[in-house]
Parts: sequence; C-alpha cells; structure tokens
Amino acid sequence: LKKAKFTKSFELYTPGTVDTARRRFSMETDLRRALQMGELELHYQPLVDLDTGLLSGFEALARWQHADLGAISPVDFIPVAEESGLIVPLGRWALEEAAKTIALWDERMLGQQDFRISVNMSAVQIQRDDVVEAVSSALRGSNIAGNRMTLELTESAFINDPEGAKRLLDDLKSLDTNLAMDDFGTGYSNLAYLQQLPIDVLKIDRSFVSEMMVNKDKRAIVRTVLSLARALGMKTTAEGIESSEISEVLRRLGCSVGQGYYFARPMTSDAAYAFLVADKSSPTI
Ligand code: C2E
Ligand code: MG
Ligand code: MG
Ligand code: MG
Repeated sequence: LKKAKFTKSFELYTPGTVDTARRRFSMETDLRRALQMGELELHYQPLVDLDTGLLSGFEALARWQHADLGAISPVDFIPVAEESGLIVPLGRWALEEAAKTIALWDERMLGQQDFRISVNMSAVQIQRDDVVEAVSSALRGSNIAGNRMTLELTESAFINDPEGAKRLLDDLKSLDTNLAMDDFGTGYSNLAYLQQLPIDVLKIDRSFVSEMMVNKDKRAIVRTVLSLARALGMKTTAEGIESSEISEVLRRLGCSVGQGYYFARPMTSDAAYAFLVADKSSPTI
C-alpha cells in the first residue's frame, strides 16, 4: 500500500519517468528469467568477402522472443542488460553459444568450410567482467581455436581508460582472437591512439553506408575510413549494405567485407548452417 501511494504521488509530477522506470524494472525481471530459462537465441548474419563473393563468416546477434510482448530488439534490451548488470551473464552466454555453434558446424561439415563467427562485446561488459577469462573459457569449453572468433568492440570501451583498454586488447589478442572496432565513425576516435591498438578490422557503421549514394559527406567518411584502414594495415567491413550498387562501389573502393540485407538478413542457426553449406558450392554474388 505504501508503495502504491509513493508511486501515485510520484506520478503526479513525473508520469513519464515512473512509467519508464516501471517498464524497465519489469523488462529487467523478464530478461533475468529469459536468461535463466534459455529463452534468448543467437541469430547469424552472413559476412561476405566483397572480392570473391564468398561467405567469410557470420555476426552473432542476440534475439529475445518475449512470451507476451513478442520479439524485443537488442537495441531495447541490451541497454537494460547494461544498466542492470545482466550484460555479464548475457555476454558470457553469447560467447559460449557462438563457440558451441562453431564447434557444431565444424563437426557437421567435417571442418571443410572455413568460417568465423563475430560476437559483440559491450563496453559495460568489459568494465564489469573478466572478459579475457570469459573468452578463453568459451573457447576451451568448445575446444575451438581463438582465430575462429572475432570480437566486436565499440570505441566507447576505450575512452575512459585508454591504457587499460590497450592491455585488454593485447590480452584478447594473445588468445589469437580477431578484433573488430564496431560502429566505427560514430564515436570518439583518437587516431594516434587507434594506431597503437591491435585491431584487425574497422567496421564502418551502417549510418554512413546506407546513405553513401545520396549523401556526399557520408560517402567522404566511408572513403576516409577505408584509406585510414589501409594505412594502418587493418581490414574493413561495411555494415548495412542494402543494394548491389552500394556493394559494388564499396568493393571498388577496396572494402574487404560486406554485411547487409542485400546479401542476407540475420537468420536462425539452422538457416545459417544451410547458408554455409550452400556457399561451399557457389559464390554469393
Ligand atoms: P551491431 O553490432 O552494429 O549489429 C548490426 C546491426 O545492424 C544488427 O541489428 C543487424 O541486424 C543490423 N543490420 C545488418 N544489416 C542491415 C541492413 O542492411 N539494414 C538494416 N536496416 N539493418 C541491418 P540488431 O540485430 O538489431 O542489433 C542491434 C545492436 O544490438 C547491435 O549492433 C549490437 O550493438 C547490439 N547487440 C546485438 N546482439 C548483441 C549481443 O549479443 N551482445 C551485445 N553486447 N550487443 C548485441
Ligand atoms: Mg556488431
Ligand atoms: Mg556494427
Ligand atoms: Mg551498428
């Protein structure tokens, strides 16, 4: 009763805030349960080598099918996971699940197809968990080599503690994993600092790619990132490719890998495995 009263008086002044807080609280409760009950899934979106048209791997993307609310986007539940600390078990689950998938597909294909799976790691997860231990335990648990996995990190993971971030990346690199800077171009980028990091891939954010044909400035940014990557000896992945035209322009500009609805949407693990098997015989583009 006391609680109800409190809520009510609060509502008088800031209805929006309370509403958001309550929704967030219930989403947090549901998310905790979903994690415990195994109700989250990874879907996989193909990454395509722009030169050969062959599949080079997949990005693992978390999906949550809520019993009452239906599909909830990671854009909505990842922030809740970050604020509640659930990003730690969620992040470990994603690493383990991706590692298991690599081992399973290898076993089914007798190791005949070479592919990598990329896993997203949140800046909050990196702050709160021993991610080097999390990654190495996922690799060990499925008995796979580190170079089968790419870890996608964002620039926000590096702002507060550049020295610590460098040490962390060096440690992840010593597990032989591939490291990608996700959503590149949207955040803070200290170029002098970037050069010191053992980053393998710059992932150009979708906001630049999707509008590069109609917006000169975005196109200029894409070109700049591509030449920067070349200068630093890094590979590039462009996300959000939705047309053959964009794919072709990026290929000509020297972008290594493409990802987007033009090639394929994120799909269930079974569909992705079928995609992988089909790719063995014929190029995607
Ligand atoms: P991201 O890592 O930048 O992933 C790329 C997002 O772009 C995905 O959205 C993907 O479905 C979407 N995408 C790819 N190609 C296209 C395209 O051609 N057009 C359009 N419109 N969208 C495209 P999604 O799956 O909704 O994930 C959103 C974000 O949520 C991810 O952005 C990532 O930051 C985060 N996320 C997803 N799964 C995880 C996870 O397991 N752990 C963490 N920490 N974050 C995750
Ligand atoms: Mg990503
Ligand atoms: Mg991205
Ligand atoms: Mg993005």
